[in-house]
Amino acid sequence: MNEPIKEAAQLLKKSRKAIAFTGAGVSTESGIPDFRSKGGLWSRFDPMEYGTISAFRANPAKVWQMLAELISISSARPNSGHLAMAKLEEKKILKGIITQNIDMLHQKGGSNKVVEFHGSIASLSCLDCGNQCSLSALQGKAIPPACDHCGSLLKPDVVFFDEQIPSSAIDQSRELLRGADCLLVVGTSCRVMPASFFPSQVQAQGGKIIELNLQPNLGRLANVVLKGNFSQIMNQLLKEIEL
Ligand code: ZN
Repeated sequence: MNEPIKEAAQLLKKSRKAIAFTGAGVSTESGIPDFRSKGGLWSRFDPMEYGTISAFRANPAKVWQMLAELISISSARPNSGHLAMAKLEEKKILKGIITQNIDMLHQKGGSNKVVEFHGSIASLSCLDCGNQCSLSALQGKAIPPACDHCGSLLKPDVVFFDEQIPSSAIDQSRELLRGADCLLVVGTSCRVMPASFFPSQVQAQGGKIIELNLQPNLGRLANVVLKGNFSQIMNQLLKEIEL
């Protein structure tokens, strides 16, 4: 077992409140390419034309071409890294996950405390009356789908580029970050605001930062860097913690 993994395992075991912050990199092994990568969703659909609420209101049928592809990731399955993270919660080591992913894979992998910073494809809401329905209610509906209550437009509960992060997600993230003494950053470059502040916030309150990325980039913010593949390293980490 290599040293950084031992060190990370020690930090997690010693912590009173360890939390994780995850991004696209944890889902690539489940067959969902990073939306921002080559071949990812935003390389085929211009975010300005397809990824804003104003574009959606102006031309819902067009934006639903992108959304239909986006919600197709609901068939993806969690990988063994997701399962290992859920095990860490079960062991009461990980107190929760803040994710930028909308794919529900942490929950499918067994994690219970998950804050979805950018929303989720699990449900849709009507833009006019606010009526909410589950993804399965789309079956048999024409695209773009209409609200059963008022006939207006349904939109998946994901955060578009020109929309605010839901206040419930902000509140729940604050709650998780408060007093966190260890932050496991996984599969994210932490470049997107306001989530990019999480590592420095935890460090400012005296916490330790563990970075697990294929291409680490937190630099000196990270106390331990685990460079490599998500599922492989999470499983090594779990094994080391179980020793
Ligand atoms: Zn409605």
